[in-house]
Amino acid sequence: MRKLANGSRGGCNAGMRMRPLLVLLFLLAITACTHAPSRNPMAQWVPSANHNARQAILIVLHATEQESVEESLLTLRTRNSGGRVSAHYLVGRKGDLYQLVSDEHRAWHAGGGRWGTITDVNASSIGIELDNNGVDPFSPAQIASLIRLLDDLCTRLDIPRTQIIAHADMAPTRKRDPSRLFPWKQLADAGFGRWPEAVLPETPAGFDAMQALRVLGYPMDDPAAAIRAFRRHFRGMESEAEALDANDARILFSLTRPAR
Ligand SMILES: [Zn+2]
Repeated sequence: MRKLANGSRGGCNAGMRMRPLLVLLFLLAITACTHAPSRNPMAQWVPSANHNARQAILIVLHATEQESVEESLLTLRTRNSGGRVSAHYLVGRKGDLYQLVSDEHRAWHAGGGRWGTITDVNASSIGIELDNNGVDPFSPAQIASLIRLLDDLCTRLDIPRTQIIAHADMAPTRKRDPSRLFPWKQLADAGFGRWPEAVLPETPAGFDAMQALRVLGYPMDDPAAAIRAFRRHFRGMESEAEALDANDARILFSLTRPAR
């Protein structure tokens, strides 16, 4: 104790001498904490102003398949049975809106799967969870809030308005959310996602509907699972069909034919 007291008494002058060193150490610590642009020491740094942040190009919609916002806020900040999970946003049944991860960061919502050529969906997307138990319909207030959020995200982050999919679309062998009751047509009427024409066109001779499913973005590792996900999204039905029917083909032709 005495030694400490002596040290602290004598430390006044020493402290004065130490101060510039402490300031330097403090500044070094601050510098280390800020995210300086990473530069490769192998190359000469010749900065260009012509760049911007890498951004999401896809929005993935989920249903929490839980009973309340409170339960889901806890899960999305901790873990579920499969490990640590999160999403950028959670929309409550009354339209209340929560953000858990910044738009520019990679939330852990998608898991394995793909959409078109996007194989790391978490790295390329914004994840939105909807408070829904997987059985009930989605409330008008919740969908209205979601549409406002989609408008904000697509405008601010420059995400194409067609690039909005279900979790089940990109992971058809594992997922069913946000369920067959999700109102995709209402979203499309508001200008988000894809939806076929009201009067479906006849398919031309030789039209390859399975290829159209692939072109749309569905992973085709398990074709029957892709068909189930497609029917859930575009026909609002749970189906055990192993093959596409004529109605599926007309919807797929409408969705994938060149704009006229
Ligand atoms: Zn999901």
